[in-house]
Amino acid sequence: MRVMKFGGTSVGDPTRIANLCDIVSRSLPRRPVVVVSAASKVTDMLLTAARHAKEGRVDASPIEARVTALLSAFDLDPAIVQRELAGLRAALEAIAARGDGSLELLDAVASFGERISARGIAATLRKRGVDAVHADAFDLGMLTDANFGGAEPLLESGDLLRAGVTALVDEGKVPVVTGFIGRTLDGRVTTLGRGGSDYSAAIVGAAIHADEIEIWTDVPGVMSADPRVAPDARTIPVLSFHEAAELAYFGAKVLHPKTIHPAVKRGIPVRVKNTFEPEHPGTVITAEGDREARGVRALAHKRGIRSVNVVSTRMLLAHGFLAKIFEVFARHRVVVDLVSTSEVSVSCTVDREDGLDGAVRELRTYGEVTVTADHTLVCVIAAGLLDDPKPCARIFAVLAEENIPAQLLSMGASAINLSLLVPDAHGERAVRSLHRALFSEHS
Ligand code: ADP
Ligand code: ASP
Ligand code: MG
Repeated sequence: MRVMKFGGTSVGDPTRIANLCDIVSRSLPRRPVVVVSAASKVTDMLLTAARHAKEGRVDASPIEARVTALLSAFDLDPAIVQRELAGLRAALEAIAARGDGSLELLDAVASFGERISARGIAATLRKRGVDAVHADAFDLGMLTDANFGGAEPLLESGDLLRAGVTALVDEGKVPVVTGFIGRTLDGRVTTLGRGGSDYSAAIVGAAIHADEIEIWTDVPGVMSADPRVAPDARTIPVLSFHEAAELAYFGAKVLHPKTIHPAVKRGIPVRVKNTFEPEHPGTVITAEGDREARGVRALAHKRGIRSVNVVSTRMLLAHGFLAKIFEVFARHRVVVDLVSTSEVSVSCTVDREDGLDGAVRELRTYGEVTVTADHTLVCVIAAGLLDDPKPCARIFAVLAEENIPAQLLSMGASAINLSLLVPDAHGERAVRSLHRALFSEHS
């Protein structure tokens, strides 16, 4: 069996949906299991509708118009998603009635993008002669904890999904499964976090022991930088799980950061491919990657990062000081990315506001705390950074030439990443110029 996950752009317009149908039809001998995202922008539209509902305005019409347009392009009857559209309206009404935009209610609303998509894509495939059936992932066994907005699958999901998915495939069906969503044991709908359909694909792939997980998207694989920012970015043919995880974690949107883990545990290769260029081999991510690879592999970046700086002349060298600081972050569930310390200060980056205010208030008992916003984290992924000082020298030369101030430099102990923080205003220029300088030497 093979998992084929199609992202928002691949299910978001008629030409691309037609490509998807061709790709799935050609893969029938491999017993495909299709996982789909919501059509591009639909999740954002749903969350906007939820925000409006909280202010008392219930209006699902922009989403209905988008969905109806996509279905009519394939002569499909909009009645096939009537129940979902009614469910969406009811979920928006519930938010409006309570004036409450809790994560739980938001998840209920956001889930309809994938639920509608799975029905539409399965019906389109059937029109083209593929024996496809839609399935909401929770009906096949995707059970999660109740951490709304970023739920984690429960251990028992693996066995349930294996049984549920395999039964359909053994009947000769092509299941078209919703990405992104799950359900708690007591029946409440959850989401796995933004971009989470990749994670769903990996969880399903691991559960059914797929021979490969394909992530079909709008770029030809994982590239040496975001091609929207660095136009000269190129496809990286082979990546190790470790490199891909670093890239995803540090902002390469092409893969959800958690995707890799369930696949690596089972040694299942993940291949990232372009729906518009199906014959392009894309990128294959395997446990060991390209052992021959040397030098700089890719750049990733993430905008809107905050840095938290704690200065304490009194405490820093004291036994257990760092532990205390990180204990505060942990208690407030603030995820810290980069850390750098000096004799009198600790600086770290966080990419979400959640919990930060409370953590900062508590940190003030240990020293002077400042928070700076609007920074871009730039991460250079390289093989053998410790053996070869040239890439590091080149990075600083470029930043100096471009007059871009950098701070919070950090080199992972794994020696495959070097990360730094620059102001958002210089972020994309930093990525473009670093990419040009670091990759022209390898061309
Ligand atoms: P999908 O809807 O298929 O899940 P996403 O928008 O989540 O697609 O991810 C694909 C996008 O990721 C690309 O359009 C590209 O702009 C962006 N991206 C960021 N970094 C990279 C990278 N290193 N390689 C390829 N794409 C990247
Ligand atoms: N539709 C969800 C999102 O936009 C999940 C995904 O596309 O992976 O975040
Ligand atoms: Mg994505």
